[in-house]
Parts: sequence; C-alpha cells; structure tokens
Amino acid sequence: MKYLLLFGLLGAIWWVWSKRNAAEEGRSTPRKAKGPEKMVRCAQCGVYLPESDSIADGEQAYCCEAHRSAGPVTDR
Ligand SMILES: [Zn+2]
Repeated sequence: MKYLLLFGLLGAIWWVWSKRNAAEEGRSTPRKAKGPEKMVRCAQCGVYLPESDSIADGEQAYCCEAHRSAGPVTDR
C-alpha cells in the first residue's frame, strides 16, 4: 500500500513537471531554440536582435542591409 502511494506521488510530480515543460516550450519561439541566442546591437540604430538575424560587418553588427551600408554611428 505504501508503494502504491509513492508511485502515485511520483506520477503526480511527473505530470506537473511535464505539463510545465510543455508550457515553456509553447512560450519560446517556434524556431529551433538550442539555448538562449546571443543578442547583438545594430551599430546604426541601436536595436537589439539575434545574432543569426543580424548582418555582420567586421566587428559591427547591423539589423538590415541599409544600416550596414550607412555604417556605424560614432557621434554618441
Ligand atoms: Zn539598424
């Protein structure tokens, strides 16, 4: 009888845990998310965006092609 109780408790814990896991999965982006992605800052307008969505130019990162050609803002 004691084992049955223990089994039920473990089942309840597993149920809550799996439910919470599913909720977290739904909240995150539908794209493959293997850990938090590195965020970079556009050197032109200062917007933050995922590194995979940015356009890299040397050490600078930009949000779009127009800002990449405009170059980094230095007078700030
Ligand atoms: Zn920008």
